[in-house]
Amino acid sequence: PSVWEDIEPGEVDPILSISDVWKADADPKKLNLGVGAYRTEEGKPLVLNVVRKAEQAVVSDPGTNKEYLPMTGNAEFCQLSRELAFGKSSTPVQENRVVTVQTLSGTGALRLGAEFLAAHYPCKLVYLSDPSWPSHLTIFNKVGLQVRYYRYFHAESKGLDFQGLISDLCSAPQGSVVVLHNCAHNPTGCDPTLQQWRAILEIVVQRQLLPFFDSAYQGFASGDLDEDAASLRMFSAAPGMELLLAQSYAKNMGLYGERVGALSVQCLSKRVGSRIEGQLKALIRPMYSNPPIHGAAIAAKILRDKDLYEEWKVELAGMAGRIKAMRQALYEELQRRKAPGDWSFILRQIGMFSYTGLTREQCEIMTRKHHVYLTMEGRISMAGLSASRAGYLAEAIVDAIK
Ligand code: PLP
Repeated sequence: PSVWEDIEPGEVDPILSISDVWKADADPKKLNLGVGAYRTEEGKPLVLNVVRKAEQAVVSDPGTNKEYLPMTGNAEFCQLSRELAFGKSSTPVQENRVVTVQTLSGTGALRLGAEFLAAHYPCKLVYLSDPSWPSHLTIFNKVGLQVRYYRYFHAESKGLDFQGLISDLCSAPQGSVVVLHNCAHNPTGCDPTLQQWRAILEIVVQRQLLPFFDSAYQGFASGDLDEDAASLRMFSAAPGMELLLAQSYAKNMGLYGERVGALSVQCLSKRVGSRIEGQLKALIRPMYSNPPIHGAAIAAKILRDKDLYEEWKVELAGMAGRIKAMRQALYEELQRRKAPGDWSFILRQIGMFSYTGLTREQCEIMTRKHHVYLTMEGRISMAGLSASRAGYLAEAIVDAIK
């Protein structure tokens, strides 16, 4: 018999497995709102024009080769990513006390940051929003950190449970790591207002918590890159602030499979920063040695070239705009069918997802009877919807809740 005869099958990923089942479904009405990937009105994946142009330029540049990158990745990409998130005029950036390394997209940045904290941060407690993106729990558990939750979603209003959030962070032990989605919270689509962010910052400072920002949707929430970085920049500017930031270009540049991201650590001096960089390298070297060149070269080209950057902003606003239009379309279709209850939260929620409040049983009806695929906590990816399917989705919802 195999030495693995009794091996367990391994847990199925709750989100990625949805697409597998969806693919196997032969019904032409099927609708995949499970995975968080942008789709065109025709339901097709989108490669941004600006990405095609940048890629052409990278490929045809005679200076392009296939040499290894340094362990920390493409230095220009790192610098431009840091500036994109923190802002060019950010004091910590200008004082060279934000260290940035290229990572395998947002997941890689979170994992590397988690490994770094497990090895070099005294407090082993990590607070996640309840609910949060499922990989947060598994990533932090994997490196041996202990995960706790702070209240986040208010089931009744389908909005932010601000009081719950504040009270849970107030009772977090000093030094705890707190994971914050800088915008377009996944899965709830509920973000704090700027005023609420200020209150959260106050507690973070008071309790000496360490913020770990997860920025997977910069530009995708509002359509504006600066607006979506406001929470991070507010925290970063606070005196004495140290923090981590995981960035992903999967959604905002549509570079999903290219695995383009960055991890930044803001600290208090250049000297400490360069030591942190040394420790990050020590984690990277035995894990994957150095990151891939292609996607980061595309992103760097777009971030560096003024015309391409402007074009990117327009395409990004276009994606964000289509998602907002889908919120409106779904809301109107539900109204038209006189769906019981108040569905205006769909318009208030932000970013790629809407957290519908559908129960597991109702989600099962959606999938089994109507071939609408969504996560079993009732999260739907608005980016997977099209104007022509909004009516169908509304009908399925009305049937599932009756
Ligand atoms: N963080 C959040 C909250 C996400 O929703 C995602 C993607 O779905 C990621 C991070 C990272 O994704 P990736 O590893 O594809 O960049």
